[in-house]
Amino acid sequence: MAYTALYRKFRPLKFEDMVGQEHITKTLKNQIMAERVGHAYLFNGGRGTGKTTTAKILARAVNCLNPQNGEPCNECEICKEILSGSLTDVVEMDAASNNSVDDIRAIRDEVNFLPTKAKYRVYIIDEVHMLSTGAFNALLKTLEEPPEHVKFILATTEPQKLPATILSRCQRFDYKKINDENVVKRLKIICAESNIKITDEALKTIAVLSEGAMRDAISILERCGQESADEITVDLVKDLVGLPSLQYVHKVAKAILENDEMVALQAIDDVINDGKDLYNYLWEVIKYVKDILVYKSTQKLNLYSADELKAIQDLAEKAEKTRLLEIIYQLSELENRIKNSTQKTILFQAGILKICMKPIIPMAQPQIVKGQQNIVQPQPRRDTVSPVPEQKRPTAQNVQKTEDWQQIVENLKKSGKIRLYTCLVNTTVDKLNDQTWEVVFTNGLTDFNKRILEEVNNRNDLIKAIAMATGKEINIRLRDGKAKKAESTTQTSAFDGLGIDINIID
Ligand SMILES: [Zn+2]
Repeated sequence: MAYTALYRKFRPLKFEDMVGQEHITKTLKNQIMAERVGHAYLFNGGRGTGKTTTAKILARAVNCLNPQNGEPCNECEICKEILSGSLTDVVEMDAASNNSVDDIRAIRDEVNFLPTKAKYRVYIIDEVHMLSTGAFNALLKTLEEPPEHVKFILATTEPQKLPATILSRCQRFDYKKINDENVVKRLKIICAESNIKITDEALKTIAVLSEGAMRDAISILERCGQESADEITVDLVKDLVGLPSLQYVHKVAKAILENDEMVALQAIDDVINDGKDLYNYLWEVIKYVKDILVYKSTQKLNLYSADELKAIQDLAEKAEKTRLLEIIYQLSELENRIKNSTQKTILFQAGILKICMKPIIPMAQPQIVKGQQNIVQPQPRRDTVSPVPEQKRPTAQNVQKTEDWQQIVENLKKSGKIRLYTCLVNTTVDKLNDQTWEVVFTNGLTDFNKRILEEVNNRNDLIKAIAMATGKEINIRLRDGKAKKAESTTQTSAFDGLGIDINIID
């Protein structure tokens, strides 16, 4: 049995069977009924939106021996011959492969002859923007003075590549992307007629994946149908197009929102081990974060099961809209970077790690505020961003623990700030609130400590190290761990006028 691709088999034979392009089919039908069909049309639109299908219907409708309301009958001798491709009066040409001057000259010579059987010779030129300059010129001559018995239907995805002289001689119709609902509607009809069982969810997923191209939607459906005699599910659809299942996407999105680098790396490993394409995966993650943002704004989403929606709801509570937006931008940048890279995996891992890290508040020179309290606020710079540190650093939410302060101090040593490190090595930190930490000198706050912390470079290094770990501006108080609590005021005021630049608040 001869095999016919589903999209050919189910190519609409009438204007009324086409979905999503009613603004075009209605006009054409009216023109046909009023016998005011133009001599040249330009059909412009994305692939799979119905340009060629319309052209074929139009070619039959203008030649049909028994047209009905502007539609071809598809039953008469002419319609049947056009449908079978045996009528030489209707010529389909792909300009991608026949784009030379000679190809068009052949048409130009031919148009002078009357049609053999039909009323009109119809030339359908697909991908017309692929014609060479010479070919366009040859075509233009024909379009300028077309014989009565000739119709041209040009189709393109890139009208901006056509010479203005060609554009001005055509009636132009712009095809819309077919919306998901219409794609689903059409797929349902095809499934019913082909005995394909499929879940509604799977249908919706195919519609989303096809991005408004009906031909792509039908091709995906067909591949699914060949793969499984059982009911087609979402997982089968995703598997076939190489999409990672939602659990991988969710895992990495959650890790990013929780700044959990370890889990993020695990999620990426899972995807690689599962043989999925990282680029597709990244695209899915971008869409997922976008959906979290949409959910946060509208409290509703299509295409997800109740459980999946609950998971999205949980994630939506973890981040502000601005953070979600920022993640989307960062992921999109990453997408651009890895698109043409031969080191996709490494770039992908590094990029996700970077996004996992909390945004860093850029450091600036602290200002000394003279007065009874030396309150110093680091001012964020507006135009530069501090580089992300290479070493693993604690994340903001767990920095409250003392060992993370130790990590900050440890990092000072690693980066060669030995004096500062020595000064702080026997300290702990009390996190008083989101903006203020109290550094406690457990062995007492000595003059040596004070002198070290007075130095501008040391002061800047410490502020920077804390900001890198927390992503925040933190004010620092110094406290002598040996002094009684009540004495701390006196002690802090001892810094007054000493030019101690580190943030000291009391
Ligand atoms: Zn007919």
